[in-house]
Amino acid sequence: MGLIVQKFGGTSVGTVDRIVAVAKRIQETQDLGNQVVVVVSARSGVTNELVARAKKINDFPDAREMDLLLSIGEQESIALTTMALHKLGIPAVSRTGSQAGIITDFAHTKARIQKVSGGDIRERLSEGNVVIVAGFQGMNRDGHITTLGRGGSDLSAVALAAALNADFCEIYTDVDGVYTADPRIVPSAKKMKAISYEEMLELASSGTKVMQSRAVEFAQKYRVVFEVRSSFNNNRGTIVREEKSMESVLVSGVALDKNQSKITVKNIPDRPGAAADLFSKLDHANIIVDMIIQNVGRNGVANLSFTVPKEDVRNAIEAIQAILKAWGCGEVEEPEKIAILSVVGVGMRSHSGVAAKLFGALSQAGVNIKTISTSEIKVAVALDLEDADGATVKVHDAFGLNEKN
Ligand code: ASP
Ligand code: MG
Repeated sequence: MGLIVQKFGGTSVGTVDRIVAVAKRIQETQDLGNQVVVVVSARSGVTNELVARAKKINDFPDAREMDLLLSIGEQESIALTTMALHKLGIPAVSRTGSQAGIITDFAHTKARIQKVSGGDIRERLSEGNVVIVAGFQGMNRDGHITTLGRGGSDLSAVALAAALNADFCEIYTDVDGVYTADPRIVPSAKKMKAISYEEMLELASSGTKVMQSRAVEFAQKYRVVFEVRSSFNNNRGTIVREEKSMESVLVSGVALDKNQSKITVKNIPDRPGAAADLFSKLDHANIIVDMIIQNVGRNGVANLSFTVPKEDVRNAIEAIQAILKAWGCGEVEEPEKIAILSVVGVGMRSHSGVAAKLFGALSQAGVNIKTISTSEIKVAVALDLEDADGATVKVHDAFGLNEKN
């Protein structure tokens, strides 16, 4: 018994029947004696439709207007879910992001949470209500609606769980949990019972789309233990928490991100500060750069390549053009669509040989590696898109993840 935050994603509230099923699950949780705060996403497809509609009207819609538009999907969901609870005879109230006291910075469409007061949630809970909060949205200090980046309802749930000091947080989605690889690509992939924040974070930011990576980051920072599980069945999911005893597992999972592009900038000045200029410009444009390679400079100029999410390519090139203009030299090559395959595991800290094993598996599969990057618990390679699925199967097998459990 305690306070539970449950988050239901877009497919979980995708139809009227699904909303009724969600209401029943909330009822079961409350019947066990829990107080329940629920965070819901927009119905699946709604946010994408709104984005598409905006872009039909204006290729570069104003970010503030975009937030105003996108936040309506979640508002539909809170109202309908609350009505479904009322129908079951359960006292429930809905709250928008601002009513729940989710205060963010001013970065429209990618806002960061600065504070969560909870608004009147505690009072309403103590009166016996379920409180249904709109995910994905917050409010800046001028009172304008902001959104927390795509997939941001996960972040709303984790932030509310932290602020309300919840006993548990459940992220309900349309998959059973976190798998050793995407089961659609690797049918023998296994569901993990538990995973550390760090691994989850690396997987989430490497293309495993189960959860928004910013939400995992937030959970780690505030020590919010949560479970990722399906709203379509009663199976236990994957618990994400601080790493306890990490057995001898070398690699926990293989992630694949097929939505990356490689940008190459040629003939940039080979002098201190050039990379700083360029990457701070990209940073200001809120673009997340993953892999970076700079080749050896010659005759005072160098080439630099890096990878960015496909959807950021246009903004990235715009930012780079501005810098090249200021330098009076350099040119950007046509961006190349690529895939990034990552192997992730905290076991890498204490074991060597992961990179060698990965490269071995790729070479046996006849796959050419374009770029390599490593972190403490991850080795990632950029590949041609057409090699990506096959390579993932081979690598998953090479690390013995088929047999794991
Ligand atoms: N509706 C938003 C999106 O599609 C937020 C979310 O679903 O978490 O990105
Ligand atoms: Mg989501």
